[in-house]
Amino acid sequence: MTRTAIRTCPLCEATCGLAIELDGDRVVSVRGDGQDVFSAGYLCPKGALLGDLDADPDRLRTPRIRRDGDLVEASWEEAFDLVATRLSTVRAEHGNDAVAIYLGNPNAHTLAGQLYNRPLIKALATRNVHSASSVDQLPKHISCGLLFGDPLAIPVPDIDRTEMLVILGGNPRVSNGSLMTAPDLPGRLTELRRRGGRLVVIDPKRTRTAARADEHLAIRPGTDVLLLAAIARTVFTEDLVAIPGHLQDHVVGLDEVAQTLAPFTPAAAAPACGIDASTIQRMAHDLVRTDGACVYGRLGTTATDFGTTTSWLVDVVNLITGNLDVPGGAMFPRPAHHRGSRRPFRMNRWQSRVTGLPEAIGELPVAGLIDEIETPGDGQVRALLTVGGNPVASTPDSERLDAAIGSLNLVISVDPYINATSRHADVILPPPATLQRSHMDLSFAALSVRNVVNYSPPACALDPGQLDEWEILVSLAAIATGAPTPIDIDGADDVVAAQLAAGLVRDPAAATGDLDADALLQTVEHRRGPERLLDLLVRAGPYGDGFGAEPDGLTLAAIEARPHGIDLGPLTSRLPDALSTASGNIEVAAEAVLADLERARQRCEAAEPQGLVLIGRRHLRTNNSWSHNVAALTKGQDLCTLQVTPGDAEDAGLTDGDSVTVRSRIGSVTTTVEICEDLRQGVVSLPHGFGHDLAGVELAVACRGGGVNSNVLTDRHAVDPVSGNAVLNGIPVELTPAGAGDGADIPRIGRSATPPMRFGL
Ligand code: SF4
Repeated sequence: MTRTAIRTCPLCEATCGLAIELDGDRVVSVRGDGQDVFSAGYLCPKGALLGDLDADPDRLRTPRIRRDGDLVEASWEEAFDLVATRLSTVRAEHGNDAVAIYLGNPNAHTLAGQLYNRPLIKALATRNVHSASSVDQLPKHISCGLLFGDPLAIPVPDIDRTEMLVILGGNPRVSNGSLMTAPDLPGRLTELRRRGGRLVVIDPKRTRTAARADEHLAIRPGTDVLLLAAIARTVFTEDLVAIPGHLQDHVVGLDEVAQTLAPFTPAAAAPACGIDASTIQRMAHDLVRTDGACVYGRLGTTATDFGTTTSWLVDVVNLITGNLDVPGGAMFPRPAHHRGSRRPFRMNRWQSRVTGLPEAIGELPVAGLIDEIETPGDGQVRALLTVGGNPVASTPDSERLDAAIGSLNLVISVDPYINATSRHADVILPPPATLQRSHMDLSFAALSVRNVVNYSPPACALDPGQLDEWEILVSLAAIATGAPTPIDIDGADDVVAAQLAAGLVRDPAAATGDLDADALLQTVEHRRGPERLLDLLVRAGPYGDGFGAEPDGLTLAAIEARPHGIDLGPLTSRLPDALSTASGNIEVAAEAVLADLERARQRCEAAEPQGLVLIGRRHLRTNNSWSHNVAALTKGQDLCTLQVTPGDAEDAGLTDGDSVTVRSRIGSVTTTVEICEDLRQGVVSLPHGFGHDLAGVELAVACRGGGVNSNVLTDRHAVDPVSGNAVLNGIPVELTPAGAGDGADIPRIGRSATPPMRFGL
């Protein structure tokens, strides 16, 4: 007898509704939920294989601890006892900052990660907090923090109403969207063009998204900052500034910005970015004249050495062309949950001990982690806790990081797999399978192109004795505060709930009326774990029942009753109310960014770079480093090829299928050449997240699947100086036929390339 569970897919940002047919706990089939209020039946190959992911025989079901050098199965009690003993030793001997934490991208996709990592970090009381954000979107958070006062207030394309969408450095037909939650993005992009709208893609590669756009401009990698600066400069100098009416009295610093952008004439920017001046001017005119246009930037703009300034320019261009906070433009979602207190954004409150990289949103850039581990002195990192993260695969200079992590006194991993990082662990604490967990998207509701809320209860029960992921995290938090083992999980969870309730009562933006924290907790006393916290956040949120004050408002129970989701309507204008800056205005003249524009100006004037540069790429069937162990997804194909243009391949003496060694300043990898006509000349492309075949990794399919780790090539010292975000796009590289050695007779290109970029250190 089968049953159908309705759930939101947790695998990527698109948040598709799934209808999962189960026989007992075995997944029989996965279909798109045709009744889902947002995705209306859409799903991609990854969602269709959710059952394979959960059934993966390599997924750990019980904890592992290191005994006599081997990772052996252990009880939860043994595992937590070991954590408690070893963690307290490290902290007693070396201080709290000796413990670093790294949160991987999956934390944005789990309720436990979204709700229990913060208490865990607080309990660890360390400054060495790192996450996948700083190899991805940290520059966007910072630019929004500077402009709008809130690093989590990120405007997204109002894609269902826009008449012109300009995508820089993103490939949503393959990624299914990022920093833009929209199920069925391929369909939405098709619909945009069907209704007469224009899609412009700016990318060094004619990606799948670019191939189906009205216009593709093959920009030189890393120069989006110059293109956007020239567009903005055109708008200023031609007197085209069109601030939306409701924002005209709420923007400060425009004159200063106009002055700083003065040198960025289209003629000056054109040679550097490889897009001619007349096209730049036309884009500026089109953005101003189109009723509802939007510029959107993704990884090709953030993971570059101008990540923050480029991200800032995206929203400055949207603002001055009349497209910020208006229908069809870039708009701010209004999620159902209360998003936390809105104090004006501040950053650089502390810095990395060795590299001086700045803190932002309570974390330090992961590019500095190697030096924190390797460099002796007070505060040297001696222990690492990873939660759903594989920094050896995902962060710069991975071979050196691998060795550094191997030298630590203690490694703890909350992870379902023994991967490149957790193979170093002394303790591995595996979370349950996705279908054994409840789910609700908080992070992505705040990035959604339509206001929607949905909740998924667990579709399958936990195994006997198994802990839920939130129970693991709250136990670790309790251990970090010195609580004795075995941990009283419910008691620790009561502390988390009480802290949340107290915070809501203090927050004037939370709809708590005159109730005190105890009264709030009484209203949710029938719940525990994430559901208790969710109920508090929803009831205090913008559509909430205000704990009884608005009887028709949302509660978690009301959301649970609608398994296909609740549509809360299209995006609406939210400024100036949603601003959190000290002045209450959009503050465009951020000092750090204006100073960085001088560096951009110098880049404009620099000689045309020679040699090859490396960019990344996405694949529809994979998701960063954590989906390669599903055979039905990768289908045995070699997805980790080096794409090279025919001309560059010929120059290097390479043909399709050849084995090629790719060298950067940091390291080298050897992979297979795939001739690709779609790349800009001088650009090669390698996907990230591969290279699992390391001693000790227990990922049978991924190890067999081959591929190399692109982060062997990335330089931890090459960062965006404003944010410290790692530069993962535009890496200078050289190619040689594999096995050909370094001899002068070997055809090589890139030898005369400009020196590798080094910034900020
Ligand atoms: S697009 Fe993303 S959310 Fe939708 S089914 Fe695929 S992986 Fe899941």
